Amino acid sequence: VLGVQSPLRLTIDGSALAANWRWLAARSGSAACGAAVKADGYGLGAEATVRQLVRAGCRDFFVATWAEADAVRPMLEGAALSVLHGVGADDMPQAMLSDARPVLNSAAQVARWKANASGRPCDVMVDTGMNRLGISPAEATSGLLDGLAVDTLMSHLACADVPNDPMNERQRAAFQELRRAVPAARYSLANSAGILLGADYAHDLTRPGLALYGGRPQPAADGHIAPVARIEARIVQRRRVSAGQTIGYNATFETRRDMEVAILNIGYADGYFRGFSDAGHALAGGAVLPVVGRVSMDLTAVCVDAAAGLDEGEWVELGFDLPASAAASGMSQYELLTGLGHRYQRIWS
Ligand SMILES: *Cc1c(COP(=O)(O)O)cnc(C)c1O
Repeated sequence: VLGVQSPLRLTIDGSALAANWRWLAARSGSAACGAAVKADGYGLGAEATVRQLVRAGCRDFFVATWAEADAVRPMLEGAALSVLHGVGADDMPQAMLSDARPVLNSAAQVARWKANASGRPCDVMVDTGMNRLGISPAEATSGLLDGLAVDTLMSHLACADVPNDPMNERQRAAFQELRRAVPAARYSLANSAGILLGADYAHDLTRPGLALYGGRPQPAADGHIAPVARIEARIVQRRRVSAGQTIGYNATFETRRDMEVAILNIGYADGYFRGFSDAGHALAGGAVLPVVGRVSMDLTAVCVDAAAGLDEGEWVELGFDLPASAAASGMSQYELLTGLGHRYQRIWS
């Protein structure tokens, strides 16, 4: 069978991923360092991510759902897996067949686990102020958890990407209280940004996601966290647009002078979002090629005045430094990663 050429490339640097994990593990001090691989490894590919991080020494993985758990199970080689959404009624048959631990989030989930799987290890999420998932501290200390084999008791930080937000210290203190009052084998609080808040946040196990994949949640990560994902597209057509013309949908960009333009086969369906309209750029041979006009579903125009020899069919890289791209596009670093679509050939290097 002849392979159909993919017109888009997403190159994933496996050694940068492993190096980022090792840096986060070192920053976690004596705590073990896990890895959040939900949403298909933040869009890069969960199976290959788990394989790479198991090799680096990671022993604790986190997914959102049992379907995600099933997908990475063959790669675990004995490492532990936690399912962050816990167990709904529909999940029980799958959960009973799996070695993965549910992260129990509500009194109903706790009751369900006790009724069906009493004695089997589980994790528990306690809400210390985010009001997303988790039982309350009052519930956690009320005897609700008696009889459960709690491996990891965890909570999640709401504002860790803002180092001086007072909410961080409030949640840290609340979690410290829980640690004293609720028995568990291990305690875990910090995501990527939480690791950067310092040793007081690490406890026994950290749970980075974003920074593994090259995201930098705080400037403290700059220079330490390496980029992991590179995206490249091809030039479908090169054209000369004369002064006074417009480019793209709704004619938002008007040429003030004659301009050389390349049309790239990438668009918002590939996670190159409309926020990059007139704000993103491509790179070719040292030249910076600014996006001109609106990003379309499958196509994006860039000005190639600075790249005289660049022709149809050639590859260009899209600027994808995560903090800079988030600022330029108005999307979060998380959305930029998880939005990368299905049209890329994913190449692990
Ligand atoms: C997604 C998630 C993480 C990882 O967070 P990052 O900000 O990507 O490091 C950790 N813990 C929980 C509960 C999560 O949902």
